[in-house]
Amino acid sequence: MKFISTRGQTEPHSFSRAVAVGLAPDGGLFLPDLLPDLSLRLRAWSTASYAELCMEFFRLFATDIPEETLERIVHRSYATFSHPGIAPLRRLDQNLHVLELFHGPTLAFKDFALQLLGNLYEHQCAAGGAGINVLGATSGDTGAAAIHGLLGKPRTAIFILYPEGRVSPLQERQMACTGAANVHALAIDGSFDDAQRILKEAFGDQAFAARHRLSAVNSINLARILAQCVYYLHAWFQLPAGEREDAEFVVPTGNFGNVLAGWLLTRMQVPIRGFRIATNQNDILHRLFNTGEYQVEAVRPSLAPSMDIQVASNFERFLYYAVGEDSAAVRPVMERIQATGAYYFPKLERDIFSTSRADDADILHLIRQTHQRYHYVVDPHTACAFQGLNPDRTSVVLATAHPAKFPAVMRQALDFEPTHPSLEELKSRPIVKHRLPADVSAVKAYVAAHAV
Ligand SMILES: *Cc1c(COP(=O)(O)O)cnc(C)c1O
Repeated sequence: MKFISTRGQTEPHSFSRAVAVGLAPDGGLFLPDLLPDLSLRLRAWSTASYAELCMEFFRLFATDIPEETLERIVHRSYATFSHPGIAPLRRLDQNLHVLELFHGPTLAFKDFALQLLGNLYEHQCAAGGAGINVLGATSGDTGAAAIHGLLGKPRTAIFILYPEGRVSPLQERQMACTGAANVHALAIDGSFDDAQRILKEAFGDQAFAARHRLSAVNSINLARILAQCVYYLHAWFQLPAGEREDAEFVVPTGNFGNVLAGWLLTRMQVPIRGFRIATNQNDILHRLFNTGEYQVEAVRPSLAPSMDIQVASNFERFLYYAVGEDSAAVRPVMERIQATGAYYFPKLERDIFSTSRADDADILHLIRQTHQRYHYVVDPHTACAFQGLNPDRTSVVLATAHPAKFPAVMRQALDFEPTHPSLEELKSRPIVKHRLPADVSAVKAYVAAHAV
């Protein structure tokens, strides 16, 4: 199988090349040149374990990786999860299921993709000879998950920039208390926007990026999307057979990556009825699907910070299919969005997508209500999915993070703080971070001195 760019001006890439490059050279995002039809495989796959299912699924895409290697990569990636079911489905009520995606090493769903991506990178280093230096900026969950994907791996180093004092203390500990020599937590004296600007400037210096074999960690990598398809499929199989075809997945959404992964399965003939895009007060996608108007606004920090996103970067992949797999039609739309921050889409697939929006007051209320009704504690991101649940249809809520990651919000909502042993253990470890000024030359000097 080959991978093509949504913008059509990149030659087809192998799976491994597409994963290594991340963003396509023409500025587009990679997609499989042909999506497989899964309908004939569903019966055989329905009783597979999580790792088996992941292996069967990836075999269809990662056709340039030997089977035994792929099998080792997949098994390793999910051996770090603390729950034997990896992604257990819990029934809270007659029609209400929760898919718990927080049993990975950093207690958020990003582990599903980044554990796998870390092992794919390691394989590529071993196969290609050269080491790899990953550079990223984070406001929380992604940085921690990326770090734990590469922890202690030979011939890799990871540098994560974050704004000093502006990530939660536990998130900082997940990045700065690993004790691994190849992990560099770089606390910038500035904002998240400063960290992102520095990152852009560092990658913009192409000679520097090439010299140190820099790789970006971001949500647009093709392997991340495919890894996320697997838990939708696994959850769908765990539903009673009679409920499968009517089920709606409810997805706390930021940049559209997670919901896109589920939706792609429908393009592979998996009969999923619908998806609800659950946003916080940064509601660009809620507005888009209700009015057709894509309109970027300023980010308003919320109690669900990992969804504080206004540019839904993975939307471009959906757009590619929406315009009939015509990259010539994608390019002018993306150019216009980049130039003006706005676009009007006259017809969007509104029958398969519904949306909801939860502001901070709603989030606190929904955490409380879910606890009272179901004796179940949800984190502030997952809480957004409980807004406007339809009691008459089967809903599968994706629980994207463990509530113990957000103790301050939980205390505000419930008067107690949930705990998790892995976070408790972190509290006794020393923090190892490097304070740097918000200045690209300081960051480049640090990377140059510590790159592998
Ligand atoms: C990243 C994140 C999200 C948003 O995911 P997208 O792929 O950007 O839609 C939601 N919840 C949590 C806990 C996250 O870390």
